[in-house]
Amino acid sequence: MSAQFDRLSAGRLSQIDTWIFDLDNTLYEGDVAFFAQIDKKMTEFIARYLSLKPDNARMLQKEYLVEYGTSLSGLMAVNGMDPADFLDYVHDVDLSVLRPNPVLRERIAALPGRKLIYTNGSRGHAKNVATHLNLFDLFDGSFGIETGNYIPKPKRETYEIFNKDFGVDPARAMFFEDSVRNLAVPHDMGMATVLVTSMADWSHEPADVRPGGGLHVKGEPQPAHLDVITDDLAGWLARCV
Ligand SMILES: [Mg+2]
Repeated sequence: MSAQFDRLSAGRLSQIDTWIFDLDNTLYEGDVAFFAQIDKKMTEFIARYLSLKPDNARMLQKEYLVEYGTSLSGLMAVNGMDPADFLDYVHDVDLSVLRPNPVLRERIAALPGRKLIYTNGSRGHAKNVATHLNLFDLFDGSFGIETGNYIPKPKRETYEIFNKDFGVDPARAMFFEDSVRNLAVPHDMGMATVLVTSMADWSHEPADVRPGGGLHVKGEPQPAHLDVITDDLAGWLARCV
């Protein structure tokens, strides 16, 4: 199945010349095992940094994620943490569990216009992961949490910095994400929005930050800010090339 929901007209599609992709769980299929590595390293770092027991560190990590957009942002805002060590530590993970998708490479390469990566992780993480997936050379630029002054999606200010940095005209842009809430501002700005879901079970994550938002059951009511919902990004991109 390539699209569970699609209300984009061919006319709208033909106007798109800027293709913006989130990284994690978007450019590769939602992967619980891969995310678990980063998740665990965040808990370890927070436990050590704040001298907390692992369970309490994990609770705080998820509270900050929900409230501040990323756990890192909460640690910076509330605890005054320096982001550099945290980012280096949590992104030092084994990439071998992620498999390159040659069809996705072909489809992204064929998109007419600029392709950009926009992640709440670091730019170094974007480069490592996208290089491992054999996709990095297809992109014209990448934007990480440090590029947006550590203000994470879904906060409006970071999208404004992104648009300014890359000279993006929202009316001609399409935004691909696995996070429902990260697509609200792009939609509000006038971008077309594509939610990439997976069949992975994310029920252990807080509901409103779950990849795919748990929206992988056909027929569920769809948030109004989503134009497309697909569990097969490469398959759906065939519409755009
Ligand atoms: Mg993501």
